[in-house]
Amino acid sequence: MTQIYNFSAGPAVLPKEVLQQASNEMLDWHGSGMSVMEMSHRGKEFISIANEAEADLRELMNIPANYKVLFLQGGAHAQFSMIPMNLLRGKDTADYLDTGIWAQKAIEEAARYCKVNVVASGKDHQYFRVPQQSQWKLNPDAAYVHYTSNETIGGLEVFWTPQTGHVPLVVDMSSHILSRPVDVSQFGLIYAGAQKNIGPAGLTIVIVREDLIGQTIAGTPTMFDYKIHADNGSMYNTPPTYGIYMAGLVFKWLKAKGGLAAVEKLNIEKAALLYDYFDSSDFYNSPIAEENRSRMNVPFTLKDSALDAEFLKQAEANGLLQLKGHRLLGGMRASIYNAMPIEGVQALVAFMQDFARTRG
Ligand code: PMP
Repeated sequence: MTQIYNFSAGPAVLPKEVLQQASNEMLDWHGSGMSVMEMSHRGKEFISIANEAEADLRELMNIPANYKVLFLQGGAHAQFSMIPMNLLRGKDTADYLDTGIWAQKAIEEAARYCKVNVVASGKDHQYFRVPQQSQWKLNPDAAYVHYTSNETIGGLEVFWTPQTGHVPLVVDMSSHILSRPVDVSQFGLIYAGAQKNIGPAGLTIVIVREDLIGQTIAGTPTMFDYKIHADNGSMYNTPPTYGIYMAGLVFKWLKAKGGLAAVEKLNIEKAALLYDYFDSSDFYNSPIAEENRSRMNVPFTLKDSALDAEFLKQAEANGLLQLKGHRLLGGMRASIYNAMPIEGVQALVAFMQDFARTRG
C-alpha cells in the first residue's frame, strides 16, 4: 500500500492498528460468527461492546460518577439545539463566547431558543486570538456559558478552563477531545462529534452532569431529550453501533499508548515541529496568536498565495493529502489529530522546506 499522510480536518485519519483490528474482526467478531454491523443493539455481544467503550472512556477522561456518558447521533450540529432545549431550565438567556466559525454556528442556533449574550468576541483580533476571561462580560443570570475549546477552521485552541462560578460551563470539544487531559468536573456538559479524535462520523458523544438534565423546554422532541437517552443507556432508539465499536477500539488504543497525558506529550511535540518551522521561515506564516495555536488544526499561509495550487499539487504527489484550507478561509491547514504519527508531521515539514527552497 502507498504510504500517505492524511491531514483532513474530519472525517480524519484513524489509528492504523485500530483499522487493522476492525478489518480482522469484520466478518466474525470474537467467534460470534457475526460482524458488529449485523448485531442487535440489544444482544449481549453488542451490549458488552458498548459497556466497555463507556468504561474505557470514563477511565481515560476520569469522568466522575455523577456524569452521564451519552452515545448520540446528529453530530455537534444537533448539540447546538439540544443544549438550549435541555439546559435553559426555565431561564431565557445563555452566555456564548465568539471564537470563530463554529462558535458562531452554536450562537445562531441557540438564538432560536433564547437570548444570547455574547460575552466576548475574537472579532477585534480578526479571530486570530481568543479573548481572555478578564475581557468577558458574563451574565450571572445566564442558564449556562458555552464556548468552543478548539476552532477547527480557525485553528485556535483554548488551553485554560473558564471559571463561571455556579453557572454551568458547556464546551464544544469536537476537535480536541482526548488530545490532552481535562478536568471533567469543571464542566456542566462536554460534547464532541466523533469524526476527528474518536472514530468514524455518525457518533456524537455527550458527557453531562446528571443534575442538569430532565427539564427540557416545551415541545422538545423525545430524541432531543438527554434524560431519555440517559435513562435508556443510549439505547432509546438504535444507536450508531459500528461507530460505538470503532470508538471503543480507539479508546483501547489510547489506553495502550499510556492515556491522555502521554498522548498530550506527543501532540505537543508534533505541533511544535510545525509552529517552530513557521517561526523560523519567511516563506510560511501562522497567523494565530501564540497562546492560542491549536495542536490539532494548524492553518498556515504561503508568502505568495499564487503558489498555493502548486504547493497542494506537489504535496499530493508526495503523499501529503488534504492540506487545502477551509473554503471560508483559504490558505492551508494541516490537521494533526491523535492518530497522525509524528512521521507524518516530519514528512510535511521536510516537504515544506524543500518547496520553500525551490520556490522561495
Ligand atoms: N464544532 C466543531 C468545533 C467542529 O469542528 C465541527 C465539525 N467540523 C462541528 C462543530 C460540527 O460537527 P458535525 O458536522 O458533526 O455536526
